Amino acid sequence: MVNLKEKTINKGEIEVLKTFEELNIPPLILQAISNMGFEEPTPIQEMTIPIAMMGRDLIGRAQTGTGKTAAYGIPLIDKCEVDSEYIQGIVITPTRELAMQVAEELNKIGQNKRIRSIPIYGGQEIERQIRALKNRPQIIVGTPGRLMDHMRRRTIKLQQIKMVVLDEADEMLNMGFKEDIEEILKQAPEERQNLLFSATMPLHIQTLAREFMKNPELIHIDPREVTVANTEQQYIETPEKMKLDVLCRLLDIQNPDSAIVFGRTKRRVDEIAEALSKRGYSAEGIHGDLSQNMRDTVMRKFRTGTVDVLVATDVAARGLDITGVTHIYNFDVPQDPEGYVHRIGRTGRAGETGLATTFVTSREINHLKYIEELIKHKITRKPMPTANDALAGLQRVVVDSLLGFAEKEDINQYKGLAESLLEENDSITLLAAALKMLTREPTNNPLPELSAAPPMPLKSLDKVYDQKKGFRRKSNPPRNSTPPRNPNAPRNSNRGR
Ligand code: ADP
Ligand code: MG
Repeated sequence: MVNLKEKTINKGEIEVLKTFEELNIPPLILQAISNMGFEEPTPIQEMTIPIAMMGRDLIGRAQTGTGKTAAYGIPLIDKCEVDSEYIQGIVITPTRELAMQVAEELNKIGQNKRIRSIPIYGGQEIERQIRALKNRPQIIVGTPGRLMDHMRRRTIKLQQIKMVVLDEADEMLNMGFKEDIEEILKQAPEERQNLLFSATMPLHIQTLAREFMKNPELIHIDPREVTVANTEQQYIETPEKMKLDVLCRLLDIQNPDSAIVFGRTKRRVDEIAEALSKRGYSAEGIHGDLSQNMRDTVMRKFRTGTVDVLVATDVAARGLDITGVTHIYNFDVPQDPEGYVHRIGRTGRAGETGLATTFVTSREINHLKYIEELIKHKITRKPMPTANDALAGLQRVVVDSLLGFAEKEDINQYKGLAESLLEENDSITLLAAALKMLTREPTNNPLPELSAAPPMPLKSLDKVYDQKKGFRRKSNPPRNSTPPRNPNAPRNSNRGR
């Protein structure tokens, strides 16, 4: 394959984590990251920061939520000089949301050193960005198209760039930004340092890396070692037609503060979000067909808690650091283990706990077992919740909030009224009526039928799962004969998402 030296980190090495001080990070930056509440480096930070601070080119491969931003942010801030007039670093990101998020984190890391970063992305008035550029930020975090735009207008010049970072490189290539990226890189000085971060390392990334990087060190944090230890993982076997019902029941029972539901296609995301709203849940959908403005609005509502349930495609949720997500629902099974880890990596972050529930149809069970095998983590089977379970869940929510209310609120002005009511009525009847009034009982509004989920694009067809023996490779079929189709295995077609 490629002759990139790969350094994979295994468990033993992760346990001997160094401190930030031991990574020789200068005091101004140390102070800033300590203010951010970072106590210890994550594995990818521990591995990459020293190499990057030596000036080496580097490829960092690790799952979402492993702290890649600071892994490049710290060396980048370290490299920037505060009294220079020029842009010294650029970070290229696939989406506007990510550009904003990264710029914000870099501004925190650079706060004491007074290194300023600004985000540059399509959809925002270019005049406003030009004004911001006049303040001479040392670092630009931008999406490829808009960066090119500014370079053409000569409002961004790359002659003095010391470091280029490609963040979420796989996503950028998937989105068709390859030419733009190459064009940007061509205009940066030869002797710059290059860092590339990505959750996956498909061939086209390796090709790109070989094209523009100088003898890069490749750091790979094995996803199996960092699988979201704080997330409880469950699955429920459910027919396609029941999925919406099951989702509503789970939402009733679990009453999540902040949940993400993953759907396989944009169309399904819209349909799920609409169905949930109709049933009275505070839900909105997000995917790539929405305008930037819409996406921003949805994300803001979700972050501030106005919306409790975000329904998303993988791509839309990719790379976003959304903290405080308590529940993940894989409405449709993710296509591969990396996708799975990626999705559930949205919860249980930074010491919080989370619950991830995956819906599988009977023909997808094999696929789930395959994921389970590869991530080396048990995904516990749970029974399908019943309508009664859901009602009990809703009632419990009401009882909890009633008890909490009785404890915290000043209800003295109501006590007289309560006493007089109780003189003529039975207390159980009254309380039961009050509880029923407060409970949002499940409506029987018929749930809409969703458009079909495209068949699972499987990578695991050369393996079969056996209840007793676990996974084994299918024996190679004799040449010139069609292999027998495993009737349980979903078809390997239709990769389009
Ligand atoms: P990635 O880019 O790998 O998906 P991020 O850089 O977005 O991950 O980091 C995920 C979250 O973890 C962010 O909220 C970030 O502030 C936090 N974080 C990063 N590094 C540390 C650390 N060393 N200690 C505590 N929290 C951290
Ligand atoms: Mg990231």
